[in-house]
Amino acid sequence: MKFGFIVHPFNISQLRAFAMNTGFLESVGRPDRMFKVFLDENRHVLDSADSEALRGSRESSSLPVHVFERVVSASGRSTSGIIVAVPLLPDEILNDQKRAVAMVAEACRHCAEWGADVVGLGAYTAIIGSRGEKVGQLSPVPVTTGNSYTVWSAVAGLESVLGRIGVALEGIAVVVGYQGSIGLAISKMLARKGVNLVLVGRGSGRLIPQSLAEVVQQTGIQVETCNSVEEGVGRSRIVVSATSSGQVIRQEWLLPGSVVFDVAQPRDVIGRAPERPDVLIIDGGLAEFPEGTTSSLMSLWTHNSIFGCLAETMILALEDRPEPFSIGRELSLEKIKQIGRLGEEHGFGARNFLSFGVPVRRGDFTRRRKWEFRRSPNGDDFLVSARSALNASGNDVYRRYRNYMDPFVASVLNSLDLEKNYVKAEGVFVWDENGDRYLDFASGFGAVNTGHNHPRVIEAVTAVMNGKLPNFLKPSVGQLTTALAETLAHIAPGDLDTSFFGNSGAEANEGALKLARLSTGRRRLLHAEGSFHGKTFGALSVTDNRRFRSPFRPLLHGCRSVPFGALDALESALSTRDVAAFIVEPVQGEGGVVVPPKDYLSGAKALCARYGTLLIADEVQTGFGRTGAMFASEHSGVEPDIMTVAKTLSGGLIPIGAFVTKSDIWDEAFGNFDTYNTHTSTFGGNNLAAAAGLAAIEVIREEGLVGNAADLGRYFLGELEELKRNHRVVRDVRGMGLMIGIEFEDFLGRTIESPAAKEFLSYLGRDVAEKLAGLSASIVATVFIMAELLNTYRLITHFTLHRGLTLRVQPPLTVTKDEVDYFVESLDKLCERLSVVAGMCEELDSAGWSR
Ligand code: PMP
Repeated sequence: MKFGFIVHPFNISQLRAFAMNTGFLESVGRPDRMFKVFLDENRHVLDSADSEALRGSRESSSLPVHVFERVVSASGRSTSGIIVAVPLLPDEILNDQKRAVAMVAEACRHCAEWGADVVGLGAYTAIIGSRGEKVGQLSPVPVTTGNSYTVWSAVAGLESVLGRIGVALEGIAVVVGYQGSIGLAISKMLARKGVNLVLVGRGSGRLIPQSLAEVVQQTGIQVETCNSVEEGVGRSRIVVSATSSGQVIRQEWLLPGSVVFDVAQPRDVIGRAPERPDVLIIDGGLAEFPEGTTSSLMSLWTHNSIFGCLAETMILALEDRPEPFSIGRELSLEKIKQIGRLGEEHGFGARNFLSFGVPVRRGDFTRRRKWEFRRSPNGDDFLVSARSALNASGNDVYRRYRNYMDPFVASVLNSLDLEKNYVKAEGVFVWDENGDRYLDFASGFGAVNTGHNHPRVIEAVTAVMNGKLPNFLKPSVGQLTTALAETLAHIAPGDLDTSFFGNSGAEANEGALKLARLSTGRRRLLHAEGSFHGKTFGALSVTDNRRFRSPFRPLLHGCRSVPFGALDALESALSTRDVAAFIVEPVQGEGGVVVPPKDYLSGAKALCARYGTLLIADEVQTGFGRTGAMFASEHSGVEPDIMTVAKTLSGGLIPIGAFVTKSDIWDEAFGNFDTYNTHTSTFGGNNLAAAAGLAAIEVIREEGLVGNAADLGRYFLGELEELKRNHRVVRDVRGMGLMIGIEFEDFLGRTIESPAAKEFLSYLGRDVAEKLAGLSASIVATVFIMAELLNTYRLITHFTLHRGLTLRVQPPLTVTKDEVDYFVESLDKLCERLSVVAGMCEELDSAGWSR
């Protein structure tokens, strides 16, 4: 079913703008026949600045504005419609209603001829002729004023905005313009919610309309009427305004902290922009398009928002209901709720709010919320207790993430359906709030080798807490901290025996780099191409990723990269004998799980020794059994000069990082009055974290997790290699132990980046296109794979940071063969489906789509 919608200009310049759309349509190569006629007839007038001439030229024509190509609702239904402008200004409509009704009816016929089955009346066209009744009698198809949805969206929007700033919808609300059909219905809805009302109306007939009086009586709320707007808005901070005249509220009259929902067109609040930081003035009664709506003139609708009355018309068309849904002054509250619910089902909604036509920013809401917090006699109500946070719903979690952390990442997670609220984790398993169980094959990038919440780790940490041991006490050192240092001295390769504790992998590497400079007296630092050592300034300076580095230049001076795996290049870089350290991952993690040639690490160590450079082995990701040895350096019998660890040293519970070095190097660097204390960390190695680390090491050894990683890793790789042979979309499988990378073919690459694909994306709707535009093909493919594994097979995975097409696969080392088999089977099924997509891409490519 199709719809029509009648609009009209509010002023001469809008009238001209409507007409100019004709030119726009022409310029995008879609001239509309009816438009053309109008344009030809009126070009001389439109070009003239003479408003009288403009008025005189519009005796009876209605102006088709444009056709919505498609409205696709969230429930998958679709409709299309035409917008027709009646060339009358508001005063013309109100002053000669008879003529206006005739013209609006004419416009309805125009819509019907085009194929519309229902027509919505916008703005003043909905007021005349007993609010749609007369036009309805003359129109060949049913008409609606669309006011029910406007009312619903004003009230729902008000509740949502108040919720965002922490104000309850209670006490008193002011309704300005309560005698109009929208104001009246809003008053009734607020009354039903138990809110007392101050009703402001022209000449205020102390008379309250009968239907409202009935609701007031039923609910027992307090009502006052008032004919001064200034006095009225001074009675409450909650104001809804819906007059038909507009321009009645001065911003200075508003109480501090007011929230005004301005539903009127033209606006009731005077001014061009909000003038007070403590007041929120929201354009009320609007709706957003469902995602996927396309229109050649989408840009005409500010920020995807449309008037509620247009939304109602679209909803009726989507529902196949050619009805005079909202007609007359008295709107049914039941119908208002019904249209609101239908709107939600179809994906309409007030997600983003506008103020004077400009989106209200995140900061505007948070500033208002802080304003409330600071003034609240009981500000603690605003603070979230740990106990309530523990039971937060996914909605709350992601609302907070969006509002107070990272809205961009939140929206990406949301659009890819990766926005899960995990509430419980045990071993390899994780549960979300719906009780769905997932297998974690990402392991916090190696932070939970012992599985989530291992009982031994919990027990160790709990014992420290129950014993009320001091955790941060200076100058002093913890019992568990020193014990962890001793344990690390025993398990670390070669003569490594001295530990320094920080709180993360990056911090461990910062310390290691400083130690190397201090103990060698040299400045330069070498790292490998494709390396990842963390994102703090020092660690970032030896991390090889342009996107991570370039916004933060200049980085540390004297850092340079050499190809990973190439000893001759390393030698020539070291031969200048001024390099303090070569920092390297025994197996590169974020670089895409890259295992170097067999003799690389031992060769690198020998070269470092020859040229007086320290070898720093970054075992942050490879450490603690991940690759099938306690530390990956052991595979090649290498003893680094400094080893950095983190991740699983936390027992998967409490952050900690460390560098471990030889006593000589430590003493050389920090063993004197000048340099001692030149590298410290307040929290580093606290008792709680150290207890978790000690327990994790115990678990790894006692449960034979190193052996499990080696054996199961070998089996897993073998199975994946088999899978690779069966599926063209798998380009490579690499790894060591349970540190595995699966690299996919770039099957989307040429196709998704082609001009044809971009054109196609633009048809999916602006939102989708914008979200996808910034993502490269490799990320799209891998993220799609991640999302599929998560949502279809309940497997948590993640791509590697530098190589988007490589999926890292690293389950906790407690994983079993059955779980590995399940992963392989699931991936097999997914690859089957990916091959279909890849085949389609190939076909498109060969058909010239990519060119
Ligand atoms: N080094 C390596 C090898 C890593 O994989 C990582 C984290 N992925 C880091 C350092 C940085 O660790 P963190 O995030 O704890 O700073």
